[in-house]
Amino acid sequence: MGLIEEVFTIELPVGESFRIQRCRYKGKKSTKRISIVSGIHGDELEGQYVCFLLGQWLRNNPDKILGIIDIYPAINSLGLDSITRSIPFYDVDLNRIFPGSKNDFLPAQIADGVVNAMRGSDLAIDIHSSNIFLREIPQVRIAKSQEDVLVPLANLLNIDFVWVHDAVTVLESTFAHAMNTIGTKTLVVEMGVGMRLGKAYGQQLLDGLLNLMACEGILDIELLDVRFPMQSHEGEVAYLNAACPGLFVPVIEHCQIIEKGSVVGHIVSALSGEVMDEVIAPIGGMLFTIRAYPIVYEGSLLGRIFGEKQ
Ligand SMILES: [Zn+2]
Repeated sequence: MGLIEEVFTIELPVGESFRIQRCRYKGKKSTKRISIVSGIHGDELEGQYVCFLLGQWLRNNPDKILGIIDIYPAINSLGLDSITRSIPFYDVDLNRIFPGSKNDFLPAQIADGVVNAMRGSDLAIDIHSSNIFLREIPQVRIAKSQEDVLVPLANLLNIDFVWVHDAVTVLESTFAHAMNTIGTKTLVVEMGVGMRLGKAYGQQLLDGLLNLMACEGILDIELLDVRFPMQSHEGEVAYLNAACPGLFVPVIEHCQIIEKGSVVGHIVSALSGEVMDEVIAPIGGMLFTIRAYPIVYEGSLLGRIFGEKQ
């Protein structure tokens, strides 16, 4: 049985309070510590299910726990309660104000509280589920500067894709960057779609978390037979953007392998009944992102393909 603790509380001006809770499972044989984190964005729910599955597994297998496992399912707790991506009342994206500060406005105080609660963790896994517009296959995204340290860990997580990308300024204000800076090796998982829950992805990541913890000596179990992810440096990522506004109707499924020049979908007009545009794959490869929300504007992201370098 885990120990439920409140790690951060602050009174809001509107008479409510903002609180962050964790459930801690503590073995006696190691001080190695991992933090499983979700709900930084209040509209992303896939991580809720992963936290449940992991908690259930740990409750059923207390004798396998060697180190410390902290589960934080709801960082932006008010956002989760009110179906809001950002922090309610402030309209601030919590993942853009790390590491935060005690002497700043409330969202920055929350970020500071999160960092302090997790300070000292050896590892952290920050589980996101895209947004309501795009559906993602289970993947880990890593800033180029962290590639050497984090890719070997990501390869243990039973995900489909490791995407190493160049660090841009905005990444420096994320939870993952703040934690990596203070010595906690932090992986960002993106999977599924906002406001929904996919059971298969949840189970897939649970197996990955168990495998990672076994490899790191936090759990006393056999290693799992996990899948080896595609590596972004072995190919290129092509973006599909809408050429005109309308209703996007895909003709192929998410995760499918497609050929260069094949039709990914159509943008149609609900009013006139016309097909406005045909969306063509610029490269062949795996469709690892696909539009989930059908209404699009000119320039809207419709999908991403990972494929061979041209
Ligand atoms: Zn997110």
